[in-house]
Amino acid sequence: MEQNITCINCPVGCRMTVVMSDSGGFLSVSGNTCPRGAAYARQECTLPQRMVTAVISVSGSRIPLSVKTSRPVPKDLIPAVMRELSRVRICVPVHSGQVIIPDILHTGSDIIATRSLT
Ligand code: SF4
Repeated sequence: MEQNITCINCPVGCRMTVVMSDSGGFLSVSGNTCPRGAAYARQECTLPQRMVTAVISVSGSRIPLSVKTSRPVPKDLIPAVMRELSRVRICVPVHSGQVIIPDILHTGSDIIATRSLT
């Protein structure tokens, strides 16, 4: 089974063809011009991951707080991450870079504030 994907690691945007086994295992990739593309293709076709960005409400502030994951999380966990974010309750002050939720859903990724609110 073949799958065509575009590498997003740099502006070149190499078009790659990934060959997968019938059971979903990674077999090969072509079209990449550097090893980063091959690593991305393998990851994207076996366990796709994404950075998550969102805003959450903060008690004591009329401005919502923008947050993001500290590293990509499995794509299929994004709805669960968003549910966790909808439940979190925090108050001002919040500082940029502050960890809001450590190791969310045991992914190894923290939810961190991307701005300060006082
Ligand atoms: S394969 Fe390498 S050169 Fe091509 S887009 Fe990805 S990172 Fe850039």
